[in-house]
Amino acid sequence: MEPHRRALADSKFACFWLDQDARPPRLEALRGEQRCELLIVGGGLTGLWAAVQARERRPDLDILLIEATEIGDGASGRNGGFLSDSLSHGASNASYHFPGEEEKLTQLGRQNLRELLASLERYQIDARYEGTGFIEVFTRAEHSEGMADWAEQQRRAGEDVVWFDRDAMRTEINSPTYSGGLWNRGHQVGLVDPAYLCWGLKKTLLSLGVRIFEGTPLLRMDAQGDGMRVTCPDGSIRCQKILLATNAFPNPVGAARRSIIPVWDYALATEPLSKAQRESIGWKRRQGLANKANMFHYYRLSHDNRITWGGGTSVRYFYRGRTDAAVSDLRKRMERLSADFFHTFPQLEGIRFSHRWSGIIASTTRFCLAPGTACGGRVAWSIGYTGQGVSATRFGARIGLELLGYDPSDLLELALVRKKPLPWPPEPLRWIGVTLTRKEMERADRNGGKRGLWLKLLDRLGLGFAC
Ligand SMILES: Cc1cc2nc3c(=O)[nH]c(=O)nc-3n(C[C@H](O)[C@H](O)[C@H](O)COP(=O)(O)OP(=O)(O)OC[C@H]3O[C@@H](n4cnc5c(N)ncnc54)[C@H](O)[C@@H]3O)c2cc1C
Repeated sequence: MEPHRRALADSKFACFWLDQDARPPRLEALRGEQRCELLIVGGGLTGLWAAVQARERRPDLDILLIEATEIGDGASGRNGGFLSDSLSHGASNASYHFPGEEEKLTQLGRQNLRELLASLERYQIDARYEGTGFIEVFTRAEHSEGMADWAEQQRRAGEDVVWFDRDAMRTEINSPTYSGGLWNRGHQVGLVDPAYLCWGLKKTLLSLGVRIFEGTPLLRMDAQGDGMRVTCPDGSIRCQKILLATNAFPNPVGAARRSIIPVWDYALATEPLSKAQRESIGWKRRQGLANKANMFHYYRLSHDNRITWGGGTSVRYFYRGRTDAAVSDLRKRMERLSADFFHTFPQLEGIRFSHRWSGIIASTTRFCLAPGTACGGRVAWSIGYTGQGVSATRFGARIGLELLGYDPSDLLELALVRKKPLPWPPEPLRWIGVTLTRKEMERADRNGGKRGLWLKLLDRLGLGFAC
């Protein structure tokens, strides 16, 4: 058997983060008739942060949260745990889609991250935060040209960035594929354990008196009198307002549904590295890593020194936006990831993967949050973070609450909030377009980043992704 297949042979199909001893017991499902003022649907980071901030803004508000499966079981407990300071999926994506608002969004993103970390302190949530920063690793020598000067300019402008040339990069973290690396270690960006973050927020909410029901999907939502009525399998809820925090999962509101597509991302975790394996790789400062590419891998060390590894060319959209279990564990995707891992770290040949899993990202045509309202403002949603939501969900939750009328501020004037993303086209155009774009991005990566005609056309139509 080839080494990358052998490495997967004993892996467990389960998310490493969610498969830890600290996993709390599942709360009871909702039964019978319930009432509340604010209903939050979805127990990922958007829903959890919405409940925390709603409680902070209105201490007397009667809040109820329902989650179809378990808290953190969506993208929120399954991600890489890269805690970024961006709300817009990077500064260049902001310039591209929200020209004139870049500076404001940058400041808001940093403020959001500061407040997020302060909340973790305040509620004593141990999310295993490490303020390590991220390194964007370069694997093509031509991309490294001029980077040392650029990093110097950034430093003079006050940014905490470090440029590693080829040798310095390989000394920092040893991969024969690296030709350089840009370490961004400013503004508290770093890593968390995503499941610990979700579980910590769950515990906090219960202590703050928020009612949570797990195993409770929303089946139907109807306007009733001056409020809303929600039907669940074994009961119903009468409420004044609803925040839909369901992200990539099917949304009961058509406009929200059309604004996102579910994109599958696959991931692996190795067994804990031995001392010799650690020494062969360096990585003493434990930064989060991602390679400079359209279809990039993201990887990091866990608290117990496993490497978690995701992304790359295995990221997929399936025809008609499938979110079912049948596409959650595809051998070909996992093997591709494994092969890429050993290409990056050949010295680790022989190591085994303990876990393999997948999760669903909600992508919008502008690659960041797309909030909205329905039912005369009684329903709001905050969805569509497109692979960068660990911190942005807290901001999205705030926007969702403000759209529902809980202490609205001038944030609602942002183009990010007011401007609707272009809706995705219907099938089969959607699948054809997304698949063609992915293939063209892979081709651009193989050609040193040169964008072909299709990607240039998307750029001109305002649908391109500016990394
Ligand atoms: C593999 C992977 C890696 C990622 N890595 C990173 C990263 O390193 N950094 C980063 O910033 N972002 C990352 N992301 C993105 C980030 O995880 C998401 O943007 C973020 O978690 C979204 O949170 P959410 O609460 O909006 O959605 P989710 O966490 O998906 O939560 C939605 C919840 O709603 C529930 N739900 C759905 N329908 C219903 C219903 N009808 N009734 C009740 N409940 C319902 C679901 O069960 C789910 O728990 C990654 C995503 C994936 C999948």
